[in-house]
Amino acid sequence: MDSYDVLVIGGGPAGYVAAIRAAQLGFKTACVDAFERNGKASLGGTCLNVGCIPSKALLDSSEKFEMIAREAGEHGIQVDGATVDLGKMLGRKESVVDKLTGGVAYLFKKNKVTSIHGLGRLVRQDGEAWIVDAAGKEVRAKNVIVATGSSPRALPGVPFGGNIVDNSGALAFEQVPAQLGVIGAGVIGVELGSVWRRLGAQVTILEALPGFLLAADEAVSKEALKQLQKQGLDFHFGIKITEVQQDESGVTVTYEEKGQPVTTRFDKLIVSIGRVPHTAGLGAQEVGLQLDERGFVKVDDHFRTNLPGIYAIGDVIGGPMLAHKAEEEGVAVAELLAGQAGHVNYAVVPWVIYTSPEIAWAGLTEKQAREQGHKVKTGQFPFSANGRALGHGDPRGFVKVVADADTDKILGVHMVGPNVSELIGETVALMEFGASAEDLGRTVHAHPTLSEVVKEAALATDKRALHM
Ligand code: FAD
Repeated sequence: MDSYDVLVIGGGPAGYVAAIRAAQLGFKTACVDAFERNGKASLGGTCLNVGCIPSKALLDSSEKFEMIAREAGEHGIQVDGATVDLGKMLGRKESVVDKLTGGVAYLFKKNKVTSIHGLGRLVRQDGEAWIVDAAGKEVRAKNVIVATGSSPRALPGVPFGGNIVDNSGALAFEQVPAQLGVIGAGVIGVELGSVWRRLGAQVTILEALPGFLLAADEAVSKEALKQLQKQGLDFHFGIKITEVQQDESGVTVTYEEKGQPVTTRFDKLIVSIGRVPHTAGLGAQEVGLQLDERGFVKVDDHFRTNLPGIYAIGDVIGGPMLAHKAEEEGVAVAELLAGQAGHVNYAVVPWVIYTSPEIAWAGLTEKQAREQGHKVKTGQFPFSANGRALGHGDPRGFVKVVADADTDKILGVHMVGPNVSELIGETVALMEFGASAEDLGRTVHAHPTLSEVVKEAALATDKRALHM
């Protein structure tokens, strides 16, 4: 029987990173992953295959189309008759995914991680080790890391299939739907809705909650909603879905809005109402692996489950369902196994939504900071006062810095605007080091760059922004 120091179940961002880091630290490591794309093994999990990467590839392609077809004129560039070759656009997305999933396979080889394609199932404890069925063959492992991820949540009684799709289906429509319904105005719903709106769909987004992005700073969610509505995304909040019926040509959705029944017909319906932990086929129940009431694997702050030698990380343990959070947990658990001080600072995990304008934040919102008892000061600076943003032709949005009025420590940074997915990184690093608004405001930022808006927002916390 093959025997490993570390066996990782799941080859997504949590699992593949844990496997690479474990191998770097000298453990004999294997990773068993069941994901298949186009009938073939494909490492990288949800993120690389049907999540972060393909969605961003399509967001970029559709944004380029929007720029060429609708915005180039403003720059004095006349383009008549721009059209979309959807097959080619989807083909490009697939080739980006191929490169990255192939890249993980290469990294496994390079780091001598044994890659096993198939299901991993916990079988029994054997002394200090575990016996795991890895793709139909039993292997022995001193430590097992469960990184089995999450799956899309379906509406109760409405299975995915036909014209009702999850994230995978929404990344592969063969033609642009004329009428597209999206249930759920969360990150995935607005990103995928944006892709198809830019390519020509009429997009209606139905959300049960009373408002948009309630987890974000209020100023940011208000501005982002205004910008997304301006583009034609038709949002409905506080609605209750009462019936979903599909036939060959589309889907009929009935919902209650402000107490009134409404019936709408869509060609396609994306259901993006959250994700549920994926433990099917893992053998959790059989070996007594403890899950919480929502199905997440229960862990302590060192990623230990209730069973000795079994650890869990990534989407399957809950918390922010983000690839970078999953990756950091992968590094941390491997380092803890090696007796090091692996640790994830959940207080400054960046959130990014890749709409146009982009939305990004890290740390506390103004409301959270006040609720936690901080005396708060804030500084806000608009992209409309920044030369680079004006040159780009995209001066929408702003950066807002939330700082402690007594200590000047940065508590949170909130952004909506061009390229803020990249701008947030600087502030995350500063917060990681406990920087003050003064530190950020006195740091030299290249001119002309969008990053000057971040510096100015920090200066604005003391009412000394220079360019406004
Ligand atoms: P997963 O990526 O789900 O990987 C789990 C793997 O385990 C899968 O390959 C699965 O097949 C395999 N598996 C499950 N059970 C078994 C078993 N018993 N045996 C063997 N293998 C098994 N996050 C971001 O940070 N940025 C983004 O831009 C972003 N965009 C997203 C867009 C979409 C459309 C979606 C759906 C998600 C997006 N996410 C994004 C979230 C991100 O994809 C997840 O947080 C991340 O993939 C979680 O990583 P993971 O390794 O925990 O799980």
